[in-house]
Amino acid sequence: MDDSGAARPLRVAVVGAGPAGIYTADHLTSGRVVPEGTSPGGVSVDLIERLPVPFGLLRYGVAPDHVSIKSTGRALGEVLARPGVRLFGNVELGGAVTEAELRERYDVVVYALGATEDRHLNIPGEQLPGSISATSFVSWYNGHPDSDVPDLDGVTAVAVVGVGNVAVDVARILLRNPAELEPTDMPTDVIEALARSEVTDVHLLGRRGAVHAKWTTKELRELGDLDGVAVLVDDGQLPDEAPEGAGRETRRNLDVLRGWAARPPAVASRRLHLHFSARPDGILGTDHVEGLLLERTTEDGRGTGESWTLPVQAVLRSVGYRATVPDGVPFDDERHVIPTDAHRVVRDGVASTGEYAVGWIKRGPTGVIGTNRSDAKETVLALAGDVPGILAAHPGDPGGIDDLVADRDIRYVDVDGWRAVVAAESRRGEPHGRGTVKISDWETLLAAANVAPAGA
Ligand code: NAP
Repeated sequence: MDDSGAARPLRVAVVGAGPAGIYTADHLTSGRVVPEGTSPGGVSVDLIERLPVPFGLLRYGVAPDHVSIKSTGRALGEVLARPGVRLFGNVELGGAVTEAELRERYDVVVYALGATEDRHLNIPGEQLPGSISATSFVSWYNGHPDSDVPDLDGVTAVAVVGVGNVAVDVARILLRNPAELEPTDMPTDVIEALARSEVTDVHLLGRRGAVHAKWTTKELRELGDLDGVAVLVDDGQLPDEAPEGAGRETRRNLDVLRGWAARPPAVASRRLHLHFSARPDGILGTDHVEGLLLERTTEDGRGTGESWTLPVQAVLRSVGYRATVPDGVPFDDERHVIPTDAHRVVRDGVASTGEYAVGWIKRGPTGVIGTNRSDAKETVLALAGDVPGILAAHPGDPGGIDDLVADRDIRYVDVDGWRAVVAAESRRGEPHGRGTVKISDWETLLAAANVAPAGA
């Protein structure tokens, strides 16, 4: 009840319209979880998103040739269209609005900020031209409006540091026949750049033994099926047997690697080399990357003192994502997450009811898109249990950000604007004989969403 005695909605701001944020909105508005003190349909969710378009890492992280995962976007889109859910795209927390303003205007704030920065290797030469973070490379091939174009001119050999699924994605995109990317939504200029690339050799480098690789078997196996690509792995680098206690995924990964090692040598125009127990110690070069200095390590990653240089012209650092937060949001500088206790944000040592975190900003950058669905459910269950206390403490409707949007003339992308972007992107491929092709710059995205730039 508000001050006049009328029922009012529970007002929730979810910051970040990636999978974790949208799954949170889904669980809050599906009617499956009805917080005590509200009725089905009595929860209003505003998704506040920095970018002009939703879907976060589904749109800008998942590789374009992983079409079935990308199709998760259809289900997420249905949540955006649901009554009670509003999209505020092109609205940055810490820019257009502050966290204090959100906390005043909502009963509940859920941070679903993800992790968008790259982790560093902290070795000499990391800043040389030609040393590129996988985060930035992935953003580029996915048409992120903030991404830089990587300079692949004259690059024939690339080292990819790290043996997780992002490293697999990056290696696959570099080596895949570009014609196979035409049916995806990859921007046309990216496909053209990949077609011009002279890369013939990609080296994937694990700093520990093969049993410690983080990739999943399904993703690893795809590398062996790339048209015109030979996968080279030295049998001597692989253990004869999986160590005791190794999980099913590790055993299957080793089976895949052993299968490749046993293949007769193939002649191919492009090659993927797998190296384990190889720790990067420095990126070499004067004006540009010329090589990667490596130290041989033991199975568990201890240095042996034996070193060698891999002649490469580019190093892609694929060693994990790192989160950051806007001013005012609590942050654990060591774990790079928002500190939480049972999903509740910990401020000044106290777990607060009314503030929650979900997805990578809470768990760290692990798990697949679907992991966020169960994570969001657990978060919403914790939140739902707190609602009676939250409503009792604040009986009046806090109103949402409508007043700020009006006063500050915030030009945001709502669900209709987003649908207009989808329609514009579905028409873009026609001149090239392609289907949907992503728009990859801010101006065109905002124009497609019928949002005039601020001040216009
Ligand atoms: P990740 O799985 O954590 O892998 C990071 C890799 O970097 C590990 O091999 C790690 O080795 C290595 N590394 C870290 N610091 C290093 C250093 N200083 N020097 C050398 N190597 C270093 O991270 P990710 O590949 O970025 O993936 C993030 C998450 O997204 C994962 O959960 C992944 O499964 C998921 N993802 C899924 C898909 C898919 O399902 N298709 C696609 C992409 C991403 P150590 O183990 O030795 O630390």
